[in-house]
Amino acid sequence: MIRTRFAPSPTGFLHIGGARTALFSWAFARHHGGKFILRIEDTDVARSTPEAVQAIIDGMNWLGLAHDEGPFYQMQRMDRYKEVLHKMLADGAAYYCYTTPEELERMREEQRAKGMKPRYDGTWRPEPGKTLPTPPAGVQPVIRFKNPTDGVVAWNDLVKGQIAIANAELDDLVIARTDFTPTYNFCVVVDDWDMGITHVIRGDDHVNNTPRQINILKALGAEVPQYAHLSMILGDDGQKLSKRHGAVSVMQYDDDGYLPEAVLNYLARLGWSHGDDEVFSMTQFCEWFDLDHITPSAAQFNTEKLNWLNAHYIKQADTARLAALVRPRLEARGIAISASPSLEAIIGLYKERVSNLNELADAASIFYADITFDPAVLNQHLTPEALPALVDFATGVRDVAWEPAAINALIKSCIGAHGLKMPKLAMPLRVLLTGQAQTPSVDAVVALFPRETVLKRLAALPA
Ligand code: GLU
Repeated sequence: MIRTRFAPSPTGFLHIGGARTALFSWAFARHHGGKFILRIEDTDVARSTPEAVQAIIDGMNWLGLAHDEGPFYQMQRMDRYKEVLHKMLADGAAYYCYTTPEELERMREEQRAKGMKPRYDGTWRPEPGKTLPTPPAGVQPVIRFKNPTDGVVAWNDLVKGQIAIANAELDDLVIARTDFTPTYNFCVVVDDWDMGITHVIRGDDHVNNTPRQINILKALGAEVPQYAHLSMILGDDGQKLSKRHGAVSVMQYDDDGYLPEAVLNYLARLGWSHGDDEVFSMTQFCEWFDLDHITPSAAQFNTEKLNWLNAHYIKQADTARLAALVRPRLEARGIAISASPSLEAIIGLYKERVSNLNELADAASIFYADITFDPAVLNQHLTPEALPALVDFATGVRDVAWEPAAINALIKSCIGAHGLKMPKLAMPLRVLLTGQAQTPSVDAVVALFPRETVLKRLAALPA
């Protein structure tokens, strides 16, 4: 059974890179009918916050990346880590080290002075036939892992290919601090082991931890999972993705009016491909997803493509669902949604033309709140010969049947009577009604408004 995990540290929101890692781990488990586990790595107590845990869970929920097991919290597993530490000490896989931080610093300085790579000198490392020094009084020891000294630690990374590190390059890692609290790499190892993780899919910022983790797993007699290290995501400008690039938190995409399925579809293609397929559902993605088609090179974020996908999904989305998503956005702007026109009718007319939900809210606000428009925009479209046609139209509005075909016929008769072409009347009419020169079909827009609103807005016509 395939078991994957997403193991965020709750030190901030769920960012786009983390979301992609979660998506790939989730999809890999789904593809194989396995299990996807959520694990909160909250041992950095100074930087972990309950708000960040919530933000991560909110982000996962918004994306619909449901976990099968968890969330597990490392802080709740301390007893287990300590149990494993004791076992390793008893087995000789780990040892107490009484070297103080000051001594360690001195050691490193001397090594640097000799042009050596700084490393722990192994004073307290037990070896057959070696007599260890007597533990100094009053010094609380750390616990170090007894890393193999020779050979290599190698794995076939499912994204990066074969990786091999000489054990001589690896220090005896501190796995517990002087207060017996376990360190980061150690907790990850015990968790991956206990949780039966078969595939560790994570960012390649962790690639340096992997040989250490593999060595500890082996010392524990645990099965070593497979590793897939995902390359980082760069911003539109090719620089490392950061706050500078605007939305980096997944929930910011919600605020910015993206649909989760658009973000998911976009993330799925960020470093993974299936031929030329660009638009696909998550069901389809889980069916296709494999680790063979992940690119080892960095993926570049492309906001334009995300916007294009979002527009696509908005177009496809059920109007009632869109209305439910737009409603709170209007409420947040203090706009009262009246019964006529219905929000759904507005959305039905506009959803083909927008690329995010906030644009839909902008469109809806035109119908529910007073508009302001730049007189210069009206003047640009309102030519002297159009004015009498518009006046005729305003008169006709009083008793025309209130539906698009009849309104269209009225517009046609007004332009016909004054020998004008459609845009001559339609453009200033759009500006007067909506404040904008670009709208869906003008008769449909007129028909959406209550008749009184149209009359009121046409009253802004210059006399
Ligand atoms: N907690 C780590 C992070 O948020 C992930 C560790 C892992 O996946 O092994 O970067």
